[in-house]
Amino acid sequence: MSGAAQVVIVGGGYVGLDAYRALMRRLGRQVKRGQVQITVVSPLPYHTFHGFTGEGLGELVPLAHTLTPLPPLMPHARYLQGTVTRVDAQRQQVEVHSEEGQVQLLTYEHLILGVGSVDPFDRLPGLREHGRCLKDARDMRAFRAELHARFQARQPTTINVIGGGYAGVEMAAALRERQQREGLGGEIHLLSSGPVLETLGPALAPLAAHARQSLQGLGVQLHEGVRIREVTSGGAHAQDDRFFPADLTLFAAGIAPAVLPGTEAMRHPHSGRLLTDQYMRVPGHTNIWTGGDAAHVAHPKRPGDCPVNALWAMKHGMCAGNNVARSLRGQPLRPFAYGGLGQSASLGHFNGITELLGLQFKGPVAWVLRLAFFAWYMPSKRQGVRVVADLLWRRPRAMQGKAPVVPTSAAP
Ligand SMILES: Cc1cc2nc3c(=O)[nH]c(=O)nc-3n(C[C@H](O)[C@H](O)[C@H](O)COP(=O)(O)OP(=O)(O)OC[C@H]3O[C@@H](n4cnc5c(N)ncnc54)[C@H](O)[C@@H]3O)c2cc1C
Repeated sequence: MSGAAQVVIVGGGYVGLDAYRALMRRLGRQVKRGQVQITVVSPLPYHTFHGFTGEGLGELVPLAHTLTPLPPLMPHARYLQGTVTRVDAQRQQVEVHSEEGQVQLLTYEHLILGVGSVDPFDRLPGLREHGRCLKDARDMRAFRAELHARFQARQPTTINVIGGGYAGVEMAAALRERQQREGLGGEIHLLSSGPVLETLGPALAPLAAHARQSLQGLGVQLHEGVRIREVTSGGAHAQDDRFFPADLTLFAAGIAPAVLPGTEAMRHPHSGRLLTDQYMRVPGHTNIWTGGDAAHVAHPKRPGDCPVNALWAMKHGMCAGNNVARSLRGQPLRPFAYGGLGQSASLGHFNGITELLGLQFKGPVAWVLRLAFFAWYMPSKRQGVRVVADLLWRRPRAMQGKAPVVPTSAAP
């Protein structure tokens, strides 16, 4: 399609999707006329929504309801299934490897890097061999199948969950609740290097206290101040030489930046994430933009950088897409100005904590707020409705033996 301005989006996560949507809002007519071509490159043909990971482990939401096929989400983009293996900023090209091993060079006028993060398998000795991380939907599917097999065989299963942040707390609560619901033997241990949900800080301490009480009420074994140094086939060794035996170990204590060859010089020296200016552009490059987990973005309203989560990734993607459109139209760029909405965690079915615009909620109200919020922000409203139905109607009925349970292995 020669003559068209080429915008290449790398990644089919929130940054990629919201950048596409912003571009279509501002340049939809030009895209439809072929004056601008948007190409999206992603190795997996679906968007993965991670917010319901706990509900997935608890067998409350089928994996398929958290995966949304990309091409229908981006109908006016050219979708290339592949992995970008190099960025050549000088030639304005990216190298794409397809699953079949073919290599293609794409030339861009603007490049949006929404490559997210990767599971930090190399951070902890033994994690790759003996632990599990759940960012990649394929790992999630395999872990769910493993759990299902053990639970079907009524094999007592003790699980260590490493990480006392939101993800760890949600996973531990969901797994414990499932163990109890299905009457299965075994324990769930939550191993946290500091106090659980420490990042909430003093202002939100009542929410952290509710989380702690809820976990203990469910029977999760809480171990705070435990730093794990190694994972083995039989459990986890702490730095203070304590050993936590387990059949399975889940890691939920952080992520690592996805490093794209050719972008090494664009990285923050400490976080390793891509640097950005106030317009979501990589400094020194007028046509490379980024955001989300891949990027180190200064918080526009307070000192420090933006939180690393889905809503911030969406807002970054939107800002990058808007500014690419402004750039193509020769208009002045607008700085990133989002200030945040709040935060939320599930503590099992119908229990949670939510902070929304400074207001604090606990218990069922917090859980419902979180569900409404997450469902609203899922990439497809249809998937949002499915998940609401799963959590409010289908699964509760299935648990009471009134409706069939949706198979866990289904995927788009
Ligand atoms: C277990 C878990 C639970 C979470 N729970 C929550 C939660 O409850 N609430 C919340 O707000 N956030 C949650 N998050 C975080 C949230 O998922 C991320 O912050 C968000 O997905 C970041 O969006 P992104 O677009 O930057 O990256 P991603 O969503 O990770 O998307 C990155 C995309 O880039 C693609 N990609 C990567 N490398 C390449 C390459 N070389 N070439 C082409 N494509 C590439 C990937 O395949 C993917 O499509 C959770 C994360 C995890 C792992």
